[in-house]
Amino acid sequence: MIVHFAKEIGAERADSIAKDINAFLIENETDYILISSSSVKALSDEYSQLAKEVHVFDNDMQLSSRKYRKQTKEVKIGDVTIGGDTGNCILIGGPCSVESEDQIQESSALLKEMGLTTLRGGCYKPRTSPYSFQGLGLEGLKLLKKMKEQHGLNIITEVRDATHVADVIEYSDVIQIGAKSMYDHGILKACAKTQKPVLIKRGFGTTLQEFVQCAEFILSGGNPNVILCERGLRTFETKTRFTLDLCGVSYLKEHTNLPIILDPSHAMGHAYGVPDLSRACVAMGIDGLLIEVHPDPSVAKSDASQQLNHDQFKALAKTLDPVAKAVGYQMV
Ligand code: PEP
Ligand code: MN
Repeated sequence: MIVHFAKEIGAERADSIAKDINAFLIENETDYILISSSSVKALSDEYSQLAKEVHVFDNDMQLSSRKYRKQTKEVKIGDVTIGGDTGNCILIGGPCSVESEDQIQESSALLKEMGLTTLRGGCYKPRTSPYSFQGLGLEGLKLLKKMKEQHGLNIITEVRDATHVADVIEYSDVIQIGAKSMYDHGILKACAKTQKPVLIKRGFGTTLQEFVQCAEFILSGGNPNVILCERGLRTFETKTRFTLDLCGVSYLKEHTNLPIILDPSHAMGHAYGVPDLSRACVAMGIDGLLIEVHPDPSVAKSDASQQLNHDQFKALAKTLDPVAKAVGYQMV
């Protein structure tokens, strides 16, 4: 249940009601907002007379639900706004991992040349083998900061565990929570305490309900700036790395009020499929696309097979504009 009380009731009263009904307490400019389990269906007369709004739900997708707020939430990525009625579909590019200053300079120069605003690169990589490249850590974050200062790019970078979440929050414009870290409560709770946007990736074995409930940890903790990211599920199929769940994207668009970004690179796992999939994603009317692109994918230290080279990325970007336009969006 979500209940709004006007700020006039005062912080102390809001706090005592929250404790009484076992609810999270957050606020916006005008209201105190109390969120309790969806199993709570009614308030006492005393509280309901005081309430401005009362919303009852049949499951714990609450703050993220279109039943609560019809309009897709606006989230700012640097000075670019997605969601709301902007119609913006942001094209985000960058290598899987930040590997060296030269590499990330080349990536940044490519984005600038293409008029793009947002660079994504990982410094703490959630690898499936301990013997694989694990990322440059803090040194990588510092390189990203340098790119932001030199090129004015917005930075998206991922947090892998709670030990470095504070550094990632400090150095990024958008915090990425990876598919394997999606359930980490240390990360979710730290991300709830900042107002920085959070891009949360769906785990490859996660239901839509579980995925959205992870987003609810961030929202109910006080950070409204959450973006959902679909990046493929594990299925019986082994020819492709994962299976991009476009049906799930339709569900999320219909039932949640959060912006949605798609990541066809990790879903496909092979560069040859990324352009076709990207166009299919944009044709769904989404808020953004996240593509892995590397100056020389053949020597990439992670996810080499799925990264586009610079020419392939430029060629792809040109084909996205008319697709976006056909569904009432524009690439930004
Ligand atoms: C990544 O974005 O490079 C990554 C590791 O993705 P995921 O968390 O979706 O596997
Ligand atoms: Mn990757």
